[in-house]
Amino acid sequence: MSNFLQNTKLNFQKAAKALGLKEAVIFRLSKPDKALEFEISLKTAKGMKKKKFPACRVQHNNVLGPYKGGIRFHPDSDLDEVKALASLMTWKTSLAGLPFGGAKGAVKIDPKELSQKELEEISRNYVRGAFEIIGPQKDIPAPDVNTDAQVMAWMTDEYSKIAGLWSPAAFTGKPVEIGGSRGREIATAFGGFSVLREYLKSARDLELLGGDLSVALQGVGNVGGNLAKILQQGGFKVIALSDSRGAIYSEEGIDAGRLLKIQEEIESAGGKKCSLADAAAGKYEVLAGEKIWELPADIFVPAALENQITGDNARKIKARIILEMANGPVTPEADEILVKKKIDVIPDILANAGGVVGSYLEWIQNLQGYCWEEERVLAEIDKKMNESFWIVSKIKQEYKTGWREAAYIAAVKRVVRAMELRGWI
Ligand code: NAD
Repeated sequence: MSNFLQNTKLNFQKAAKALGLKEAVIFRLSKPDKALEFEISLKTAKGMKKKKFPACRVQHNNVLGPYKGGIRFHPDSDLDEVKALASLMTWKTSLAGLPFGGAKGAVKIDPKELSQKELEEISRNYVRGAFEIIGPQKDIPAPDVNTDAQVMAWMTDEYSKIAGLWSPAAFTGKPVEIGGSRGREIATAFGGFSVLREYLKSARDLELLGGDLSVALQGVGNVGGNLAKILQQGGFKVIALSDSRGAIYSEEGIDAGRLLKIQEEIESAGGKKCSLADAAAGKYEVLAGEKIWELPADIFVPAALENQITGDNARKIKARIILEMANGPVTPEADEILVKKKIDVIPDILANAGGVVGSYLEWIQNLQGYCWEEERVLAEIDKKMNESFWIVSKIKQEYKTGWREAAYIAAVKRVVRAMELRGWI
């Protein structure tokens, strides 16, 4: 079993113990309901053999409603990782008070090596492989690492062709032109900002409320990139950003909005990925990616991948708050070190739930044929995130625990109550 899967189980088991759950219930919730594994073929250059890539869809629990969770394309993805991510979705949707269960999918592939045509073929083939178990009332996928609105558009189209009817509610995170929701693109980042704002209101340490708080972000994709811009607009000083190729740093602050716009322009002109360092073109100091942990930021935002803050680097972190925008970025060993260092970690299932709340609103609009204004969507996300934060804050006091355990207790409690009511346990 991978560390990440073990870690997510450990977090669940701590909450289960605090709630006094029976062994049979713990056993049932420690494993997914279903794990579908299949292969995706890709036609390569003319005359060449077809290449095959492993793919999967894992459904963890659906007591609260249809399964829900993203699909990632990544060369390091494996079944254990997807099982861990699927369980995180169960806890996340529960904590956010949504009528969804938890799922996740992946294709073990490096999209950087694919042409647009090949990416489309992989996306459509994924739907063919998983068609039987997904659908608007069964399991609704969304974007995750290396998948975006365009991928969701191809997938929705393929699903609709096989189903024989246009089915926009089968996927979320689609382009607005074909039933996507306004605001969904920035929903995860926006929700993280709402939670951070509520956290700062609740912080006893009043010092935290004053002055320019500085932030370092690892990952500038959909989540990290949008959050960097929102934080900058909100008056925070973004002092460091990193991507898979390295970090950039400026004590005076980085103009994240401008830099990411330059990066986008270079990418659309050249048709390939441009690193942050290249986009910065000498304007900011360039560092090795792992140096980001040691920088003097007040807030650290891991927004890339799991298992990034470990027993090895947690000791070096100088930040006072960690906002987990990635799924599972802090290992349990690191968690213990951070507690001793009095660094508050706002857990993933709370901090990054804005994305699935946005997806929920998209799904509702698709089912009812509505098309809401962005203002309405963001106001709903803000309200949900606000509510979730204060539920967790209350449980933290009631159970005298840390933020992560409190979030899990709230999430597990709702799932178990629903299982009791439906007569599953
Ligand atoms: P993305 O593919 O858009 O971006 C990923 C970013 O991480 C890129 O900037 C990439 O360069 C960077 N990265 C990858 N490896 C890195 C490394 N070793 N060091 C530094 N940077 C690295 O993905 P995303 O959608 O922004 O997702 C990021 C995280 O947030 C994932 O953990 C994902 O599961 C989680 N998440 C995403 C959403 C969503 O709505 N997209 C919702 C909830 C949680």
